[in-house]
Amino acid sequence: MKHVIALDVGGTGMKAALVGADGALLHEARRATGRERGPDAVVESILTFAADLRAYGEEHLGESAVAAGVAVPGIVDAENGIAVYASNLGWRDVPMRELLGKRLGGVPVALGHDVRTGGLAEGRIGAGKGADRFLFVPLGTGIAGAIGIAGTIESGAHGYAGEIGHIVVRPDGPDCGCGQRGCLETLASASAVTRAWAAASGDPTADAADCAKAVESGDPAAVEVWRNAVDALAAGLVTALTLLDPSTLIIGGGLAEAGETLFTPLRAAVEERVTFQKLPHIVPAALGDTAGCLGAGLLAWDLLSTEVSA
Ligand SMILES: [Zn+2]
Repeated sequence: MKHVIALDVGGTGMKAALVGADGALLHEARRATGRERGPDAVVESILTFAADLRAYGEEHLGESAVAAGVAVPGIVDAENGIAVYASNLGWRDVPMRELLGKRLGGVPVALGHDVRTGGLAEGRIGAGKGADRFLFVPLGTGIAGAIGIAGTIESGAHGYAGEIGHIVVRPDGPDCGCGQRGCLETLASASAVTRAWAAASGDPTADAADCAKAVESGDPAAVEVWRNAVDALAAGLVTALTLLDPSTLIIGGGLAEAGETLFTPLRAAVEERVTFQKLPHIVPAALGDTAGCLGAGLLAWDLLSTEVSA
């Protein structure tokens, strides 16, 4: 059966799948990146994993994969197939597309940025299905964004488009790793809520999910922490929707797992702030942590359809 290899590389683990033309997941696998052994070992882990997936297809699906898509973190030069930089994996300027192409018998390979690739999947087959203009914002350790325009994701001139987590929403706010102060991700990421709730509750092990539960049970200190995060988030999102005018705003990541505890006040806070802007549909992400892998599969299939039409 005709299929492609889809691979999503995270900091510690990799998720992979063999994906059919209809999007069916024909085989799924996970493996560690081995980053404790250094950047070269991570690259070798990726190449070996891809080669093993190719062998699996030959053995179980009757043919080898016709293309591959790979999503990686950090800065990505998708056009030239280069993984430019990833702080959590330590690599610099890895010619990933070329290396993978060689290891996979010369099949075409697409390289993508992890959040933009996940956004592609959410926009096309997930929560934004059918939306022509959308913004995907995962709230995790940090906050990133993917700008969806007419079936593709905008990456910007230098690969930095969509970095909504570094919009300054509180100019006198906490220091951010990027060098600015009061960036959205210092106030409204899952990590930021975890930090704020650990401090407010006096329990150093308490996290964002605990905070959400305390909000649900009416704890006033938790309500205060949550309100601060939601206010900051609404401010950042209104800046984004003022610029982009999306029809759908897809919120994902750990913090979105709080469900309506997040979405009800967030929709209200965004609505309160907009004046002339049109309100987008604000919806939870649908694909969870498989979005990157599914998006990598889409990148691979897209590559084939472009080649045929070119
Ligand atoms: Zn920042």
